[in-house]
Amino acid sequence: MSLTYADWTSRAAALTLRNNLYIDGRFTPAASGQRFETINPATGATLTDVARGGAEDIDRAVASARRAFADGRWSGQTPSARKEVLLKLASLIRDNIPELALLDTLDMGKTITDSSTIDAPGSAHFFQWHAEAIDKLYDEIAPTGGRDVALIRRVPLGVIGAVVPWNFPLDMATWKLAPALAAGNSVVLKPAEQSPLSALRLAELASEAGLPDGVLNVVTGYGEDAGQALGRHRDVDCLVFTGSTAVGKMFQRYAGESNMKQVWLETGGKSPNLVFADADLDAAADMAAFGIFFNQGEVCSANSRLLVHASVKDALIDRLRDRAASVVLGDPLDPATTMGSLVDRAHADRVMGFVARAKGDARLVCGGERVTLMGSDAYVTPTIFDNVQSAHEIAREEVFGPVLAVQSFETDEEAVTIANDSIYGLAASVWTRDLSRALSVSDRLCAGTVSVNTVDALSAMTPFGGMKQSGFGRDLSIHSFDKYSALKTTWIKY
Ligand code: NAP
Ligand code: MG
Repeated sequence: MSLTYADWTSRAAALTLRNNLYIDGRFTPAASGQRFETINPATGATLTDVARGGAEDIDRAVASARRAFADGRWSGQTPSARKEVLLKLASLIRDNIPELALLDTLDMGKTITDSSTIDAPGSAHFFQWHAEAIDKLYDEIAPTGGRDVALIRRVPLGVIGAVVPWNFPLDMATWKLAPALAAGNSVVLKPAEQSPLSALRLAELASEAGLPDGVLNVVTGYGEDAGQALGRHRDVDCLVFTGSTAVGKMFQRYAGESNMKQVWLETGGKSPNLVFADADLDAAADMAAFGIFFNQGEVCSANSRLLVHASVKDALIDRLRDRAASVVLGDPLDPATTMGSLVDRAHADRVMGFVARAKGDARLVCGGERVTLMGSDAYVTPTIFDNVQSAHEIAREEVFGPVLAVQSFETDEEAVTIANDSIYGLAASVWTRDLSRALSVSDRLCAGTVSVNTVDALSAMTPFGGMKQSGFGRDLSIHSFDKYSALKTTWIKY
């Protein structure tokens, strides 16, 4: 099914927006009665006002999740039974792709092409993958010998708090929910204030799929109240977070000052993309442009630093300038658009601050402009800076926008040193036709994922997460279940 610009616009106008908290299987306003507006950054228009959850609502949601966990309505079901419910959810997500895609596009400005072909189908796929995996994991019996049997079993943790960002609202929620629910936990989810809408619809679809009431609760609201209350709650067993490094550190503090809940963090990045002299420059240019311009550059693993061998730098920058020029900045609802608006005006201010300061340090190759479309000035053109040095702010700080910093190197050693000179270690890319160089450079890069001759390689089958201040713990793959379960030993003498 391929929808036109007019189709998307009319569907957007006809949407019903869920805008209350989802607790114990029902929509409910915040206990305080407070609400906040969620804005479409592409136009500046208010979409709806959403319940502003606070500590009291987090208490209600955690109590509901705890009751559900304790009485076994979900935690006590067999893995195969949980699989069936989550497969049904995956199928309902697939049935509702246009609606879910619209919710994210309207709420945070990403293109409808991406939300309808990547984010929403991705959510269905990730639920399906984790559902299918859960009844194929075997537990262990320790080799004690003698008249002893020691069972080592994976058991759910209990109540999981999940706090997620706005850049992939549906998918970041899914990456937490799919393994957490498959493993038998109950969850309280706090979506980002800029993008609360798809999580509320997802929770409703989960109930329709047969997830028992109370197993998935969604509390919309602000980080400093709802997010903090969840992080400090004494009856939450584990807090999983995707977002900035600064807020990730707060969750560690919240846990230390409350009940020592487990905390797993996926935080920021400043991922290097290393292009060696023997690389396929056309392919490298295509993917380097994708690596920084996809999703307006609002990607934690964005390849925001391009490290290129001095001998091919000019040739690569020429190609990149062409790729940047072919980006179509426009209404996210238009299928012809390839780059939408940033998440809000405040974020556009922040990105333009980085651009202004980088102009004093480095050479602007293209872009660096803020554009007003449809009454909103939250649009920033694809931007490339050359002659960047490692000490420059633009080489060190996460911009989270379509801004590429280019540095050059002479030797492999120097490339690795520059690449690792960062507090972050989420992802990296390497472009070379030399297999031995690809492996030896990859081995020395400090990153959770190294992509060779591509960028941002990612699938449900491979773990995703960081090193250093990009966090710890892994989303996706079989290993994601480690965060959502404890190993329990039962030792029997006979
Ligand atoms: P953020 O400001 O850290 O917010 C993330 C979440 O934390 C939001 O739900 C936010 O709520 C909440 N929060 C904010 N302040 C809080 C506080 N004091 N206490 C408790 N919760 C709080 O990040 P963002 O700006 O939404 O997202 C961008 C960041 O996410 C980037 O740094 C990016 O690299 C990172 N990210 C990382 C990954 C990864 O997998 N490593 C993936 C995607 C994004 P509010 O919305 O109400 O502020
Ligand atoms: Mg919004």
